[in-house]
Amino acid sequence: MRKEPLESTLFRKLSLLYSEMEEAYNQAACKIGLSCRGCPDNCCTSHFQHHTYIEWAYLWKGIQSRPDEKQREFMNRAGEYVRQSRDLLARGIRPRIMCPLNDKGLCQLYEHRLMICRMHGVPNSFVRPDGKKMSFPGCFRCQQLYSHLDEAPVLDRTGFYRNLASLEMAFVGQNIKTLPRVSLTLAEMLVQGPPRI
Ligand code: SF4
Ligand code: SF4
Repeated sequence: MRKEPLESTLFRKLSLLYSEMEEAYNQAACKIGLSCRGCPDNCCTSHFQHHTYIEWAYLWKGIQSRPDEKQREFMNRAGEYVRQSRDLLARGIRPRIMCPLNDKGLCQLYEHRLMICRMHGVPNSFVRPDGKKMSFPGCFRCQQLYSHLDEAPVLDRTGFYRNLASLEMAFVGQNIKTLPRVSLTLAEMLVQGPPRI
């Protein structure tokens, strides 16, 4: 079983890393003039997977800090999300279903939302461990906004990924050799329960 102080230390570091991501995101968004307020879209319907045990566990820490009734609500919505998304994917349709943690357009677990939730929107890039550079133009609204700029600010995620990978290594420890790779939607992380490491 994991030693409690180690987990607390790693969660504190993850929270700090999340704050740094948020600051970098806000700086880029501010330069472009991007705000999600009044946007006709809601990115919380995007279908994407998350890939670390530490984020999965930290998400669950947030879930467990909520009252029982709220937790049941999240779980019911997560179960429904998983059923619907599997059905759509089986028919070759990419799901666009509201995240089980979003209520009336707002994230109900904002402090515990995962890395991808914090990076989406502005143009960003990262260099993979194999040296290949990946670039993303940002959301449709952002692209409209920076079309008049000579050069859009690009958020480089590489350092954030590297730091997250280090935290993940420290979190899973020797178990990394036997644990399956994580590739789960947030709803699947809820339905499966806290990660067993
Ligand atoms: S990230 Fe872009 S598309 Fe998504 S809600 Fe914000 S402004 Fe809208
Ligand atoms: S965790 Fe929060 S920010 Fe991320 S998709 Fe769900 S509701 Fe949206």
